[in-house]
Amino acid sequence: MQNRFQGIGMTSRRTRERLIQRLRDGGIDNPAVLDCMQDLPRHLFIDEALAHRAYEDTALPIGCGQTISQPYVVARMTELILAQGTPERVLEIGTGCGYQTAVLARLVPQVFTVERLSPLLAKARARFRELGLRNVIARHADGRHGWPEKAPFNAILSTAAPATIPDKLLTQLAPDGILVIPVGDKHEQQLQTVVRQGHTERFKTQNIESVRFVPLHSGLDG
Ligand code: SAH
Repeated sequence: MQNRFQGIGMTSRRTRERLIQRLRDGGIDNPAVLDCMQDLPRHLFIDEALAHRAYEDTALPIGCGQTISQPYVVARMTELILAQGTPERVLEIGTGCGYQTAVLARLVPQVFTVERLSPLLAKARARFRELGLRNVIARHADGRHGWPEKAPFNAILSTAAPATIPDKLLTQLAPDGILVIPVGDKHEQQLQTVVRQGHTERFKTQNIESVRFVPLHSGLDG
């Protein structure tokens, strides 16, 4: 007879497969991204009370008024930064619960991530340790300034939306580097890619799709 725990395992595998199918149906086709998200336990990134909803394609509250991003959006942003090959050094702005960070850490060599709310950062760091992610360096800082000491980055990904793109993020892109960022106010945001043209100071901007992220705030905590 099947015991209770096997039962839970089966359900969780099936619900994860359903999520991956949903991402495919939504147009995500990078096999590395799909495999990674199938494998990564999203339920470890949210409170136990909400864990049963971890494999729904939806954003969920993580405390401090913030959310874990919708899996489709995580997949889309990750796919965009991998589109021109694997970037060596990636900066993420807005660690939150650390889910997007962990997806990146399994796909690229080095991830830098910054979060302005220290309680969220402390929990995310504990999860990185628990998952054995050794290629993540996390910092308590205002991501609107990027991370000048660690620049340049081959890709920068922001999981919070500014009204306009901070200049400092553009100046920290390596040649041909890509910035993936939601831009707009709380009512309307566009996910944009901004690609630095070789070694020049010219940038090519493209609108990808409408999205809804929490705002990129200024300053730390509070
Ligand atoms: N990456 C997360 C999404 C977290 S929501 C995930 O995988 O689900 C966005 C996060 O950006 C929040 O935790 C918020 O506190 C943080 N944030 C907002 N403004 C910021 C800023 N200026 N610098 C750093 N982090 C910021």
